[in-house]
Amino acid sequence: MLEVKNIKYSYNNKYQALKGVSLKVEKGEMIALLGKNGAGKSTLFLHLNGIFEPDEGKVFIEGEELKYDKKSLVKFRQKVGIVFQNPDDQIFAPTVEEDVAFGPLNLGLPMEEVQKRVTEALARVGMSGFEKKAPHHLSGGQKKRVAIAGILAMKPKIMVLDEPTAGLDPQGVTDLTRLLKELNEEGITIIISTHEVDLVPNYAKKVFVLVDGLLIAEGSTKEIFAQP
Ligand code: ADP
Ligand code: ADP
Repeated sequence: MLEVKNIKYSYNNKYQALKGVSLKVEKGEMIALLGKNGAGKSTLFLHLNGIFEPDEGKVFIEGEELKYDKKSLVKFRQKVGIVFQNPDDQIFAPTVEEDVAFGPLNLGLPMEEVQKRVTEALARVGMSGFEKKAPHHLSGGQKKRVAIAGILAMKPKIMVLDEPTAGLDPQGVTDLTRLLKELNEEGITIIISTHEVDLVPNYAKKVFVLVDGLLIAEGSTKEIFAQP
């Protein structure tokens, strides 16, 4: 479904953040990408729908090699939706509903369909009633939910979430985990990065461990967390 083959990436042609990363994600999986701050998780994610182009290596989505021209990117970004760690990097419109509508409108969907998707997506994340609110007046957790709704409204096959539990209170974590499990059961493939090891067994069935730009381990959550 999603394959990354030996990608390398340096910032400013200097600091190598990814040193040759390969991974495969099958349809319907729920994956945790585990790594400390600075390991390269965000950098890897930015390659998964072509926001970054690797110095070396390739990315395949549903068997098709990712290409970086405008038209291909539109197609791939519809399949792979990324929720950034900081919702302020993702939310731009003056109202919540306009923000969530942005993606579907860009796809050229009819207004009626856009409206339907916005309503559904906001209900899904528990933000019905916030349609006319200005995003910058919302709390951090609420902004995160609007960002997730914006991605959901695109109906992606793969959802990638960068540190989605960061900054949430325990109830927020429980709600988010429940939502992601439901989406996964509905067939969306989900990849979550986190440095919060304790939470991983609550949702992921499979784990990749990234250290210093290299994947050093991969296995079922049971295997990875088994005590030696
Ligand atoms: P993680 O998401 O695991 O915290 P990142 O992918 O954000 O890791 O960062 C990987 C490495 O790349 C870190 O050493 C970080 O300092 C460096 N890095 C990230 N963004 C930039 C940037 N814009 N310019 C230079 N170095 C960066
Ligand atoms: P604050 O940021 O003011 O501490 P939040 O906005 O994080 O509060 O949380 C408000 C409510 O929204 C909480 O009940 C929390 O569980 C829920 N919540 C937060 N983030 C999400 C999310 N991504 N998905 C679903 N529910 C969430």
